[in-house]
Amino acid sequence: MKPFGTIPPWWDAARMDRALAASSVATPCFVYDLDIVRDKVATLRAALPPGVGIHYAVKANPLPGIIAALAALVDGLDIASAGELALVESAAPHAHVSFAGPGKRDSEIEAAIRAGVTLNLESEGEADRALAIASRLGIAPKLAVRVNPDFSLKGSGMKMGGGAAAFGIDAERVAPLVRRLIQTGADWRGFHIFAGSQALDSEAIAATQAATVELAGRLAEEAGATPPLVNLGGGFGIPYFANDATVDVTFVGARLGDALAARADSLKTSRFAIELGRWLVGECGVYLSRVIDRKESRGETFLVTDGGLHHQLAASGNFGTVVRRNYPIAVATRFAEPPSEIVNIVGCLCTPLDKLGDSVSMPRADVGDVIAVFMAGAYGASASPAAFLGHGPAPEHIIGAAD
Ligand SMILES: *Cc1c(COP(=O)(O)O)cnc(C)c1O
Repeated sequence: MKPFGTIPPWWDAARMDRALAASSVATPCFVYDLDIVRDKVATLRAALPPGVGIHYAVKANPLPGIIAALAALVDGLDIASAGELALVESAAPHAHVSFAGPGKRDSEIEAAIRAGVTLNLESEGEADRALAIASRLGIAPKLAVRVNPDFSLKGSGMKMGGGAAAFGIDAERVAPLVRRLIQTGADWRGFHIFAGSQALDSEAIAATQAATVELAGRLAEEAGATPPLVNLGGGFGIPYFANDATVDVTFVGARLGDALAARADSLKTSRFAIELGRWLVGECGVYLSRVIDRKESRGETFLVTDGGLHHQLAASGNFGTVVRRNYPIAVATRFAEPPSEIVNIVGCLCTPLDKLGDSVSMPRADVGDVIAVFMAGAYGASASPAAFLGHGPAPEHIIGAAD
C-alpha cells in the first residue's frame, strides 16, 4: 500500500454529492466549487497586511467562469499570452491586467498596449520593441520591469530566480532600464519580482518576500524613482502529497507586514501585490472519472476508468515530478465508506504512465462507481495533453458561488 495526499478539508460527503450531481451528464469531467475559492480569498485577505493586493495568475485555470469569479474577488489578473488576454477581456472586461512571460510577440505587445494592460518586461530587447510599438500607436505604454532576483525561493517546486534565467532582467541591470523608460515618457508601473512556485515552507516564503521588498527598495533607490506597484510574486504551494505541509498564510502575512514596516524610503508610497494561481484555485477542483472495468492481474486489482493523464497529467506524475506519488483520491460514490481493499486506479490511455492511484487503500468500487482525484482546480484541464489518443477534452462544471 502507498500513501496518498490528504483530501482537502473542504471536501466532505455533501460537497461531493453536489459535485456528482453537477457531473451527472457525463464523465470524465472537472467540477470546480466557487465556495472554496471565495473561502481561500477571504482567508488570504484576513492574513495579508492592509494595502497588499491579490492578483490571480490566470494560467492556473483559465476557464471563463473561474476568471470572472476571481476578477470580482481580487485586485488584478496576471496573464501570459494574447490568448489569455482575449479570455480576460471577455470574461472580466474591467479587471486590472498585467502580462508577464518571455517571448511576447510584437502582435501580443501591441494587443496589450492597445488594451491598457501593464507589460512586465522580460528583457531590454522586449523593452525596445514595446517602446517602438507604443510610439507607432501614439500610446504611452504601461510598463513594469520584471526583475530576475539575485535569490530564489527556497524549497519551491519550480525555481525562477537566483541564476541565469529566461525570465526577467538581471537585478543589476534594472535601474538604467527604469531610468530610460521614464525618460522616454512611458508610464512606468513598477517592479515584478517572482522567485518561484509551489513552495510549502512558510519560513522560506516569508524570507523570500522580505528579500523581495528589500531588493525592490534598493532598485528604486538606484533608479531614483518610486515604483507605483511592487508585485512581490507568490509561489504559495498546496499540499498534493502525503506529509506535505500547508502554507501558514497568517504567519506569512504577519512577516510581510514586518517587512513592509521596515521598507526603504524609496518605497514609502508604493502599493504592493502578491500573485497566486494554484493556491487560489487548486483545491476547489475535483476530476471525476468512472470505473469502466475492474480486473485482477497477478494478485493485484485494477480499476480502469474513463479518465486519465490526458486531463490530469500532473496527477499521473508526469508533469515536473521525479518520483511518482499519489494525489489525494477517493471513490466519490462511496465517499463515506471505510477502505476495504488495495487497488491500482488507472486511466484509459494505452500507456503504463496513465496511473491515477498507485496501490491505494479504498472502499470496494465496481464498474459504474466514480473516482475523484482532488487538487484538480489548477494546471489540470489546461496543462494536460487533451488531444493525446483522441479521447478529447473533459467538460468543466462550476458549482457554488463566489459572492
Ligand atoms: C505561473 C506564474 C504564477 C502562478 O504560479 P502558481 O504556482 O500557480 O501560484 C505567478 N506568476 C508568474 C509570473 C507565473 O509565471
